[in-house]
Amino acid sequence: MKRIVYAIAQKTLEFLENLMPNYGYILMFHEIKEELQFCQDLRYCISMSSFEKMISELEENQTRFCAISEVLQSKKPANVFITFDDGYEDIYSTAYPILKKKRIPFTVFITTEFIGKDGYLTLQMLKELAQEPLCTIGAHSVSHPRLRECNKKQLVDEIHGSKYYIETFTNQTVSIFAYPYGSVYACSLESIRETKNAGYMLAFSTLNAHMNPLPNHLRYFIPRISVNESNYKSITKLIIESTDEDVTKEKRMGNPSLD
Ligand SMILES: [Zn+2]
Repeated sequence: MKRIVYAIAQKTLEFLENLMPNYGYILMFHEIKEELQFCQDLRYCISMSSFEKMISELEENQTRFCAISEVLQSKKPANVFITFDDGYEDIYSTAYPILKKKRIPFTVFITTEFIGKDGYLTLQMLKELAQEPLCTIGAHSVSHPRLRECNKKQLVDEIHGSKYYIETFTNQTVSIFAYPYGSVYACSLESIRETKNAGYMLAFSTLNAHMNPLPNHLRYFIPRISVNESNYKSITKLIIESTDEDVTKEKRMGNPSLD
């Protein structure tokens, strides 16, 4: 019963946020496989060719791929941010070469207990990604629990612990966090408070909405759109259409600027 209430709250929030002015899209990917048959879970998987096709189509249609550090400055639907959750090995072997070639910034949210497990990034790959100027590393908890179901000690371990661990091997400050599962149910207010306490500057949900003029306190529940093989075409179309609408509107107002 409780879960239904949270699901309704989530749908309502998504509806309201999508009514607000469009400040850009944060895309969330998981697995990027050379062939779909290798996907662990099709709901969170896209083929390499579809991923590349999506990026190229967006590039050809006035999209600006931004680094995650620009999130709070973003005010245009044409601004697109690429993020990967969980830390699959194919981020390194499949997506990274494409993004590197095109000079597109991206963010990887790491679940620290997954590092080095079968199918996930090794410590060496992560260290290499951390050195890549296009890549930002964020935390995604230690063991990927639903944070609402954690007690206070577990919350601290998951949220502070993953930050600390990644910082020790990258020698960089980790200032962004993505909630495991990222839904309204999975993230209690206590877990959101704990991300602030841990020193993160931004935290990302899986609220299915474009970015919008959020009040400052909501920078700890930033929406992201989950992309997979079955929805990538409609999401690409949505971004291109909202960008076109925005450009037309700007032209009517005599200001063709995209910034
Ligand atoms: Zn995850």
